[in-house]
Amino acid sequence: MKIAFIGLGNMGGGMATNLVKAGHEVRAFDLAEPALAAARENGCETFTDAKEAVAGAEAVVSMLPNGGIVKVVFENDVIGHAPEGAILLDCSTIDVATAREVIAAAEEAGYAMVDAPVSGGIAAAAGGTLTFMVGGSEQAFQRAEPILQAMGKAVIHAGDAGNGQAAKICNNMLLAIQMIGTCEAFTMAQKLGLDPQTFYDISSVSSGQCWSMTSYCPVPGVGPQSPSDNGYQGGFATALMLKDLRLAMEAAETAGSPTPLGAHAKELYEAFATENGGLDFSAIIKTLR
Ligand code: NAD
Repeated sequence: MKIAFIGLGNMGGGMATNLVKAGHEVRAFDLAEPALAAARENGCETFTDAKEAVAGAEAVVSMLPNGGIVKVVFENDVIGHAPEGAILLDCSTIDVATAREVIAAAEEAGYAMVDAPVSGGIAAAAGGTLTFMVGGSEQAFQRAEPILQAMGKAVIHAGDAGNGQAAKICNNMLLAIQMIGTCEAFTMAQKLGLDPQTFYDISSVSSGQCWSMTSYCPVPGVGPQSPSDNGYQGGFATALMLKDLRLAMEAAETAGSPTPLGAHAKELYEAFATENGGLDFSAIIKTLR
């Protein structure tokens, strides 16, 4: 299949390469020349104009920084330039309202389109083990699924347009709250005289157990290998968690849904990100010590 790929950064670079490995003809575009050079090395055909990349493509996949950019790229370079009948997939993490707006514009012009944000970081993008949460019609999902399968380990239909983004920000808001709670519990346990490993052994088989504890423990040397064992390098950057929390708070306001803990988590990550945006989000434990 001829697939245009727009946005070949940390995530998109690996995803486009996995489409090549799956036998697709990938027509790649990015504003940055080094990203294009890497894509060429990995078997993509590269273009210096997005409109040329999407011309002749049966599918267009994007992995871009934010909703403003997604809207401009789709409105200016994809809609009306990709062949009629092409399936469009935006895998970026963006706000729900923009996702719905762009999909409505694409559908009005006769395209099928889904929002398909991902869970999993750069390693999962490179390894083809992302989880995709997909919003869009049943028919659009059926067409998008095989393309996404080539880049991930799970592809889940979340419902109508924008529901992929809704699932992503609700999940990440919960993750942020859970991580801060885990950090508080471990710090307090230690201050009360408990050994962190002993607290882990107890809580990981008790009712406080959660993913932030048993898969991604913020305390070095406790639980399976995680960024805390590597000086909080790699993993999921604090700046990206903050981005998702901001999107979650915007969506909460639009939906009129109360999120007191989500709002507080956003404030804590906002303060932490000013000097630590590049550290893994579990490093927020440092603010409690
Ligand atoms: P990145 O900054 O590494 O890559 C973005 C790429 O888009 C860059 O190469 C940039 O040059 C390109 N770009 C920007 N504007 C463009 C335009 N108008 N036309 C074409 N290309 C353009 O970002 P990333 O880490 O790859 O993240 C991409 C998306 O994935 C974001 O929405 C992010 O929130 C989401 N995400 C990232 C991670 C992660 O761990 N990095 C995890 C889950 C989701």
